[in-house]
Amino acid sequence: MAASQLYQDQHGTEMEQAISGPLRYHNVCVLWIQCQPEVLNKRLDDRVDDMMSRGLIKELEEFHHSYNKDRLTNHSKVEYQLGIFQNIGFKEFHDYLILPEEEKCTEQGKQLLEQGVDDMKRATRKYAKKQVRWVTNRFLKRPDPDACPVYALSGTDITRWEENVGSPALEIVSSIIEGRIPSQEPLPLEPNGKNPAVHNVCDACGGKVFLTLADWTRHRNSKRHRNTVMKKRREEQELLRNER
Ligand SMILES: [Zn+2]
Repeated sequence: MAASQLYQDQHGTEMEQAISGPLRYHNVCVLWIQCQPEVLNKRLDDRVDDMMSRGLIKELEEFHHSYNKDRLTNHSKVEYQLGIFQNIGFKEFHDYLILPEEEKCTEQGKQLLEQGVDDMKRATRKYAKKQVRWVTNRFLKRPDPDACPVYALSGTDITRWEENVGSPALEIVSSIIEGRIPSQEPLPLEPNGKNPAVHNVCDACGGKVFLTLADWTRHRNSKRHRNTVMKKRREEQELLRNER
């Protein structure tokens, strides 16, 4: 099943989505494993280094030669906004990948490679921040009485995973299943502004929240939103084609 189909199902019908964007299932809870930003950033950086040591560059070179090189000769401007090409860790190495083989081991080549690693780390951190923003917008800025509770668990110290994540998660979920109130309080909802009766979240635009129906309608009709939706649709189609 395509991811887009899953999102669609989770949001219920188009009609419901237009009014309130509710979740399809009731009695849902969210377990949000959080991490202190400094610790998370270090972890993300380490992951990039780890990918490098496990042969990321070789993989990117192969992909570049099989799929990207021809594109570059056909177009004067490089497009990294579509489908697979926008994945973190590919466009960041563009300058290095287009170097002729013999230049890759020169001083300049090494510098470009290092630049690529730095850029990839920066992009990964930025993406992680965006995910946090998305969860906050989607689940905490929701004045809906139906809003599902979000329980924060700390993944900062993985040596204490069981104590900080494993057992509290089990306690929360089993309490909810058995109809008891979990001992841990959910995160508070964030202040919601002028009209608590209507709210909407635009997933296509990165989880933007609209607090009035007028704002939501205006947004849905805006050129920007429609372009974003169309672009996403094209990307998904291209991804599907690539998977075949
Ligand atoms: Zn939108």
